[in-house]
Amino acid sequence: MASNVALDPLVPGRGCDGCTLCCKLIGVIELDKPMGVWCEHCDVGTGCRIYETRPRSCEVFNCAFLTLDILTEAWRPSKCKIVLTVELGGKRMVAHVDPSRPNAWKAEPYYGQLKRWARLAVPKRHQVVVCIGRRAIVILPDKDVDLGVMGDDEEIVTREIETPIGFELRPMKIKPNDPRAAKRP
Ligand code: SF4
Ligand code: SF4
Repeated sequence: MASNVALDPLVPGRGCDGCTLCCKLIGVIELDKPMGVWCEHCDVGTGCRIYETRPRSCEVFNCAFLTLDILTEAWRPSKCKIVLTVELGGKRMVAHVDPSRPNAWKAEPYYGQLKRWARLAVPKRHQVVVCIGRRAIVILPDKDVDLGVMGDDEEIVTREIETPIGFELRPMKIKPNDPRAAKRP
């Protein structure tokens, strides 16, 4: 799966409780399973049919709801239809949204919290991103930038662009061999 939340300690008392939403929203490289579609091995609402032999990336995956105690019960994935992951060693927060509820992130308290994280992210040059399947939307304090469908080999970088009225943050998608990739995010 795409997250590197792997093996972070769990919030005491918090568990999946039959959620299984990550088995739809998160990609699994070993299975060639794209983001936003159910894994063929998922017993939806129950668990993994191949639990003992599931891929390593599934084995080590915990969504942020399980590991971040700042997240309230409202962020339970099965309830909000959003799976939060922390990527790039904490430099990117990603809200994976269920394609069957593509506007779930725009409701409260989710949108307000994404904007608060975006304000905290700017000075650290971190990113807050909404993913709906392969479509990526970068959340900035003053705007949301829809980058459209991401290619397999594309990455998101955010650059400071000088304009006549000051600096503006401009997210963009780039290929790995682009020299700007070295400076991500
Ligand atoms: S999205 Fe989170 S709570 Fe839901 S099954 Fe996956 S790890 Fe468990
Ligand atoms: S292999 Fe199992 S844990 Fe991994 S995505 Fe599929 S159903 Fe989920």
